[in-house]
Amino acid sequence: MDSLLIGRATLKQVVFAGACAMLGLLTLAVAAPRAQQTLPAIMPFMPMCALTVFTTSGIAAFLLSARFTATQQPMLGALGGAYAFTAITVALQLLMFPGVFTRTGLFGAGPYSAAWMWVFWHAGFPLLVILAALLRDRFPSRPIDLPHGDLWRWALIGVPVALAVALGVLAIHANLAEPFHMAPETDVLSGRRTVLVICSLNVVAIVVVLFKGRLRTVLDLWVAIAVLTSFVDASLNLLSMVPFTVGWYVARIFSMLAPGVLVCVLVWEVTVLYRQLSEAHASLLQSSTRDALTLVYNRSYFNDQFPREFDRSTRNGQPLSLIMVDVDNFKHYNDAFGHLRGDACLSAIASALAGTARRPGDFVARYGGEEFALVLPDTGADEASDIAEQARLAVMHLGLPAPVPAGQITISAGCATSQRNMPATPSGLVQAADAALYDAKRAGRNRVGSVTPAR
Ligand code: GH3
Ligand code: MG
Ligand code: MG
Repeated sequence: MDSLLIGRATLKQVVFAGACAMLGLLTLAVAAPRAQQTLPAIMPFMPMCALTVFTTSGIAAFLLSARFTATQQPMLGALGGAYAFTAITVALQLLMFPGVFTRTGLFGAGPYSAAWMWVFWHAGFPLLVILAALLRDRFPSRPIDLPHGDLWRWALIGVPVALAVALGVLAIHANLAEPFHMAPETDVLSGRRTVLVICSLNVVAIVVVLFKGRLRTVLDLWVAIAVLTSFVDASLNLLSMVPFTVGWYVARIFSMLAPGVLVCVLVWEVTVLYRQLSEAHASLLQSSTRDALTLVYNRSYFNDQFPREFDRSTRNGQPLSLIMVDVDNFKHYNDAFGHLRGDACLSAIASALAGTARRPGDFVARYGGEEFALVLPDTGADEASDIAEQARLAVMHLGLPAPVPAGQITISAGCATSQRNMPATPSGLVQAADAALYDAKRAGRNRVGSVTPAR
């Protein structure tokens, strides 16, 4: 089963992703002129948003790393690293944020530690996505055995995680100056140069992702949307950094979407793969128990199921009947009309037999070339003879002309029934039905023979 993530994007998917991109840009266009407008303060919004980014980035990192382990595609590992980096930086930012856990933030955070973690998060993500896009050409069509796989894993996922932690230590201990000014009247070029750089990094990331991937695969498509989302987030932060303004709120919503879109795509992929797997399993089960030509059960199903039915009927003290059916003079039919018509004739006979063994628990199996077995649980000898007679008539009613004395295709049937207090075995019942069938053959064919095994 091929990965859907690195499979070609369909036109429908491209159109849907394009609509999402347009919606993102439209939101930016609508929010930008109102970015500094103040809205009611929702105090838990910031920690809730950071927690959401942490959780979704963590899930995206886990799923992408798992896909990297399964497919050995370096781009997936690098993207996993980008989201692992995001999860750790956003978690550290939340822990260091003044007033969330303690008045000044945990770990002895300075006044700008959380702000610097925000910068590291927003700058690191597009940089790591650029790295992932640069590894894009290493996509083989099939899973590869990446040389030094463990080394790749450490380099692509372990290093970004270590980097995020190291940046956290730096943000606490390096006594860094204020990274940007938050005041509304701040001059973007001087006071928010870092945010401007972050916007530019996102633009470069979009260009590299588009250039390297050309939106060919589902992954290319949604990584482009994720970086676009990150760009909208950075742009709104550039316009307003004051908490509880339109720009601030919308930026935070977009920061949740950046990992969210990838998680949705990854979960969608898992869902589709699960559906394909259960369909493949069902069809495998079907082909392993059914006869390919006649579509009734095959001999291996009979061998498996008949002894079980036999045991069940013995346990419950119920009769079990077996009807063995053989097509009369079928060799002549083949000789006259060829094997292809012979095959069609066998299929028609199988359907006719299946039509007579209709009760729940009854089943028809192709026992051999032109021999079939009807297994009838909880069916006594008289009833089985009636059903065998119905089967014989059903085949006759098919009216398949044949170069034989009867002028048409007929069957002979042999019935055997295992009844209460009769210690027969499954093979004993098969032998008895076979004997009854050959009695019917000897008696002139196109008839039903019966026997009930003696105790
Ligand atoms: P009888 O009435 O004694 O059973 O005569 P018969 O000709 O049916 O008996 P025999 O066992 O000699 O021939 C069975 C024939 O069934 C021979 C074989 O070519 C044919 N046959 C078995 N399996 C298939 C199949 O899958 N397709 C076709 N077309 N013919 C098959
Ligand atoms: Mg035969
Ligand atoms: Mg035959």
